[in-house]
Amino acid sequence: MITVVLCVLFLAAAVVSTGIAVVAWRRRRTAAGFGATAFLNTGLAGWASTDAIEMTLRDGRLFHATATISFVFVCTVVVGWLVMSYALADRTWHPSRRFIALISIEPALCVLAVATNPWHLQFFVGLQNTGFDGGLVPVYGPMFWAHSAYSYAVLGFAFVRVVRLWSITSSRYQAAAFAVLISLPSALLNMLVLALHGRLTDLTALGFALTAPLMYWMVVRESMPAQAPVAHRRIFEKISDAVAVVGRDGRILDINPAGEALLRQLNAASPDDLIGLTMADVLGPATPLMPGRDLLVDDDRERTVENAQGSGLDVDIRVSRLNGRGDRCIGWAIVTRDVTDLNRQRRELEHQLRTIELLRADLAEQAVRDHLTGLHNRRHLMSGLTRAVAAGGTLSVALIDIDHFKSINDGYGHAAGDAVLIRIATLLSGATRPGELCARYGGEEFVLVLTGPDAVSRIDALRDRVATTPIDLGDGRTVTVTFSAGVATRTGPETPERLLESADTALYAAKHAGRNRVTAAPHSLALPHLPKR
Ligand code: GH3
Ligand code: MG
Ligand code: MG
Repeated sequence: MITVVLCVLFLAAAVVSTGIAVVAWRRRRTAAGFGATAFLNTGLAGWASTDAIEMTLRDGRLFHATATISFVFVCTVVVGWLVMSYALADRTWHPSRRFIALISIEPALCVLAVATNPWHLQFFVGLQNTGFDGGLVPVYGPMFWAHSAYSYAVLGFAFVRVVRLWSITSSRYQAAAFAVLISLPSALLNMLVLALHGRLTDLTALGFALTAPLMYWMVVRESMPAQAPVAHRRIFEKISDAVAVVGRDGRILDINPAGEALLRQLNAASPDDLIGLTMADVLGPATPLMPGRDLLVDDDRERTVENAQGSGLDVDIRVSRLNGRGDRCIGWAIVTRDVTDLNRQRRELEHQLRTIELLRADLAEQAVRDHLTGLHNRRHLMSGLTRAVAAGGTLSVALIDIDHFKSINDGYGHAAGDAVLIRIATLLSGATRPGELCARYGGEEFVLVLTGPDAVSRIDALRDRVATTPIDLGDGRTVTVTFSAGVATRTGPETPERLLESADTALYAAKHAGRNRVTAAPHSLALPHLPKR
């Protein structure tokens, strides 16, 4: 009777485990936990099914055949637990080929040992009718004990992994620890069976299978937020910024493809696998990305490291401290962006801006200069004079006109005329003081804006100097010219135009009086007439 009840229970457990395995398998791409759940539950379903069959057997040979199949699933459950511990710790975990190879060794040996038991009797020493209703139970041999010891070592390892993970990280992994804890009763049941040394039917599979739905629920609960980490992972892998996580010892714990590419650009001879290497291993001992260096400090500033590592690259680096429990620094997240092109473009743009600024300044200067003499032109004179008048103070405007200039052009040629204009311009501008103006007013006319009360005498001194200075025409010939000038000195609120008009009138008077002389405009504070020398 008890056999029937247990058989039904084992079969029910097998159905439940199979269902969970199927559902979990369908969701295997969402998180590694589902794949692990599917694997583990396949093992549990198989184990429960073979246990159900074994309970009904009274024939030793059939028992041996079923036991061989049963141990395939027993081993699957053990491996399933280990896989589960990895999957719960890292939702994106995938078993490597090496891992699969290593973890397959013991199951293969175990199943081989069970299959060949009749020839060596080292796994099961024999069978006895001590199960429920006189069912067959095996008496364990040394190979079985070796298998059990190995299985418990693996389960213990998985358990410690999950508990450690839970204790050093956040409480997010509490469910993972709980998932392991709820399987403890089954493990204890198994230990009891082992302790009774084969005198009781093994109910371990039943225990595991009953807690399987609870475990599935755990994985679902764990994996709801898993979508986000998976998305994070995708972003981490796809973004063009180089992202690396380094531990407190400067070792690379994680790095995205852009990060790998950047490190290889900085050091073409970087090893294939960068994980576990220190930044100094990859970038040389001088790298600022080692603990204790300036970059790995607490702030979250972005810094540009120009020509990083002498590779010709400019990079923006942002370092974020990673805190563990109790704000303990457990490493740094380093986000790096190659800004070489950006910097080059910026520098080019700055250069262009400087050139444009120089051109603009040059153009602005050209706009206020006379191209022949280099003196300020009439336009600049008018604005300068307006400012000077507005500023107040003693101010005189001298309008200077070269005498009989036309005859120079006629007698010596236009180029000679130009040479005379340039020379006179030099003499005039050389006589101005800081804050005074000297401009070419037009043709062979110049204007000086002088400060101070001695304008007329200064202009007359200039006239004297010009009249006595032979001008070299550059072809061996020299010529001496004279000029006439009219000087208007401000006495009241005269406008610039009014001052120029007065100066022009005075100049006209000077010409009329015989040229080579300086005439002060009426009301000016200067000598009205200076005798012609
Ligand atoms: P006045 O004593 O009455 O001032 O006689 P002027 O010959 O100096 O006066 P006029 O206005 O008759 O002649 C001025 C000449 O100046 C006419 C023009 O050809 C010449 N001139 C004007 N600008 C330039 C220039 O840039 N270069 C040369 N070489 N000659 C110029
Ligand atoms: Mg003239
Ligand atoms: Mg003239």
